[in-house]
Formats: sequence, C-alpha cells, structure tokens
Amino acid sequence: KVRVRFAPSPTGPLHLGGVRTALYDYLFAKNQGGEFVLRIEDTDTARYVEGAEDYIEEALEWCGIIADESPKKGGKFAPYRQSERRDIYDRYTEQILKTDYAYIAFDTAEELDAIRAEYEAKGDVFSYDNKTRNRLRNSLALSEEEVQKLLDEKTPYVVRFRMPVDRTLGLVDIIRGNFSVNTDTLDDKVLVKNDGMPTYHFANIIDDHEMEISHVIRGEEWLPSLGLHTLLYEAMGWEAPQFAHLSLILKPEGKGKLSKRDGDKFGFPVFPLNFTDPATGNVSKGYRESGYLPEAFINMVALLGWSPADDKEILSLDEMAKEFDLNKVHKAGARFSKEKAEWFNHQYIQKTSDEELLNILKNSDLSLHISDEKLMKIIHLMKERATFPKDIYENGKFFFEAPTSYDEKASKKAWNDETSTILGELATNLEGADFTAENLKQIVHDFAENKGLGMGKVMMPLRLALVGELKGPDVPDIMELLGKEETTARINNAIN
Ligand code: GLU
Repeated sequence: KVRVRFAPSPTGPLHLGGVRTALYDYLFAKNQGGEFVLRIEDTDTARYVEGAEDYIEEALEWCGIIADESPKKGGKFAPYRQSERRDIYDRYTEQILKTDYAYIAFDTAEELDAIRAEYEAKGDVFSYDNKTRNRLRNSLALSEEEVQKLLDEKTPYVVRFRMPVDRTLGLVDIIRGNFSVNTDTLDDKVLVKNDGMPTYHFANIIDDHEMEISHVIRGEEWLPSLGLHTLLYEAMGWEAPQFAHLSLILKPEGKGKLSKRDGDKFGFPVFPLNFTDPATGNVSKGYRESGYLPEAFINMVALLGWSPADDKEILSLDEMAKEFDLNKVHKAGARFSKEKAEWFNHQYIQKTSDEELLNILKNSDLSLHISDEKLMKIIHLMKERATFPKDIYENGKFFFEAPTSYDEKASKKAWNDETSTILGELATNLEGADFTAENLKQIVHDFAENKGLGMGKVMMPLRLALVGELKGPDVPDIMELLGKEETTARINNAIN
C-alpha cells in the first residue's frame, strides 16, 4: 500500500518549495491509489512559531491538497502531531539504547563550546564523530561505574547515534539514482535531547515506520541525512521506505535558491497566503491575496520540476494526479518565473465563468457601485485582457467613472480642429438610436461614410471621449454598456 506523508515543521509560513513538496506527495499518493498523510513535526520547541500549523493547514486546503489523515482529521495512526507522541518515542529510545547504534553523552554545552574553540584555534572544525567520541564524556569513553555514577546524580544527558567506522553505504534515491557515502564523513547526531524529546532525525524515522509510510518525498536539503536515516532503520530492524529528494526551486535569474528577498525584489509572492510575522508584525504577500486562483497556482507549482506527457501545461489537480510520475521529476533545479506564474493565472481567468468572476469581484475589497448585470457585461468584455480578477476593474475603470482628463499623447493623435464638430453631429445621430453594439457599429460606420471620413477618424476621438485614453474593448461595446445617456454626456463633455 502506498502511503506518503508531508511532514512540515511549524517554524513559519509554508513557502513555494514546501507547497511543491506537499503537492508532489499528494499527486504521487493519488496516482498510486494510496494515502496522503499530514504530520506536524514540532519537536523543536525553540523554532516553533505561533500560528504556523494553522497557516500550513489553511494553505494546503486553499490549494486543494487535502490530507487523508492529519492532526485535525485524525486517522488510524493518530496523533499526527509529534509533540503528542512522546510515549512512543520513549519506547524506541529504550530500544535503540539496547543496541550498538546508540549511546548516551553527558557533555555540557560549555564543554562542547570549549572543544569547538580548541579546534578552531588550530584552524580545524570539531565534529562529534567516530574519531573524537573516545575523548568525550559519554558511555563509550567512560567506565561503566563512572556512567552509573553520573546517572545516579541525575546528570542530564543526550542520546547520540553511534556512526559505524568506515562503512560504505549504498543509497538509492528515486530521482537521483544510486550513490554511496562513507560513514566516516558523518557525525554522531543527537537522537534524543536532554529533555527527553527526540530530534527530527529520530522522531521522523519512528513516525515513518509507525505510520507505515512507503515513500518519503521531500526537499533535497534532507539528502545529506539519508545515510543516517538508512542506518537508523537498520538499527531498529525496520525496512526503510523508498526515498525521493526534490531539487531546489531557483531564483528567476537561475542561480541559487529562491528566497523571500527575491519575491520582494521582483514583486511576486513566495507564500501561498499572506503571512503576518508574529515577531515583527510584517506582512508577507500571499498568492491568494494577490489575486491568484488556487488552480492556477498549483498548476504553476506542479510544473516547477515536473513535465507531464506531451508537455501539456494546463492541468487540473485530478489530471495531474493521473499523470504524475516520480521518474519524470527533474534532477536539475527548476527556475521560478514571475511571468510564467502570471501566464498561468491569465489562462485560468479565461477558464473561469463570468458568474464566478462576478463572485470573486464582489467578495473583494473593491467598492463596485454598479449592478450585477452591468458588472457581468464588463467582465465579459474585459476578462480576455485580465491576469488578475482586479484587472477587470482596473482596466475597465472608465465603465465606472467618466474620464476627468484625456491622455495628452492620445489627444494629439486623435483630435484636430474638426473633431468637436464631427462628434457633435454624431451625438445628434445617436439620439434616436437603438443602443446595441451591433446597431451602434452600423451607425458610426454609416456616419463616417457619409462624411467621407475613414472609420479611424471617428472611432479614435470617440474612444478618447468615452475612455480618456486609446485603450479598451471595441468602441460600440463600450457604448452599449455605458448606455445612451452616459455616452452622450461623455461626448458632450469632451467637445465642450
Ligand atoms: N520536518 C521536516 C521539514 O520540515 C521534514 C523533512 C522530511 O520530510 O523528512 O522539512
């Protein structure tokens, strides 16, 4: 049975990379007819950020990435919050201490600092590993009596992993293939802290085992931990899941990891939802609040590092799940593009019904003093050019209010000494007219022909009079929407 988990730590808002990991986890699980689990890894209380867990859940929900099991939903392996699984970890701490793969260490933070400083003074870097552990204060270096004495005195201790000496580990990653690592390059990581709480490494493999996770799909920052994790499974006598490490999302210019700063610099959100930093009160912009549709957002994210068959670009979540293949996930980093993100949103705006866009606009913070019927017509005319729902309003502002000034360059181009007279006559012709776009087009056409003028000589100043600039949809469409009274008023305003 395929079971996949997304295991974020609540240390801040979910970023683009996190969303992509969750999405690939989800897509793979669904593709395989398996289950997708959300587990909150909150054993590191020092890095805990208030509200981050709720943020993560809300963000995933907005994306449509719905977990089969989660802290809120529960499930047969509950609880799904590591801080609530202490008794399980205690049991396994006892178990691993009975093996040769772990030992207890009494070194205080001050002692370790002193050793570090000593190494630094020699231009070296200290590492607690299979070469140094013999001279430190742990159960491998001290006599049994000394250890017992320290324990009796209730000396705080941590549990460390005992990295084997000079073993070459053959590791397998679904995306990167086979590679090997020698244990002499790895250190003796802390598995359990002196407060009895496991560290990420230990809690993570215990939970993946307990929760029957078959595939671990996560960011490449965890690839260096694969050796340790593989040995931890060996130590516990458990079968390890399969692993796939996803490469980085790169800066728009291609080099280096995409950061929050890039978003500020180039003006795009790096978080799915707005995030208010509880420490500073600063708000980071989210895709949702910036006018992205969730379907467009996840489609964009999915293609950062994966290409579906025939290089299709527009796919729904279900279509992506049908096609998703870990073997087709790219080894190289994926470059983020703001233009591409906007392109996706533009595509999805076109797929969104006018009714739905009406709802979105009415629920936005725009104040629209206009009937639904008119708004629907505006949406219909303007959505083709819109990247975000609010563009419909912003690019169509002239529907809501008459121009108060006329673009200077456009005026030079569209207006001459005769224009006022021409438009004045046209306005008279409009008086008895039936105000449908089709009819209006005919009227303007006939008018121009009678006058021996090119269409442009009439349409351009007319557009300027109605819009204030030389942009917008077809002029007859604008006239129909504005109605006779407003159209005539705007013409008269412009020519007087
Ligand atoms: N809690 C880890 C993180 O926040 C999970 C890593 C993993 O998936 O193993 O990235």
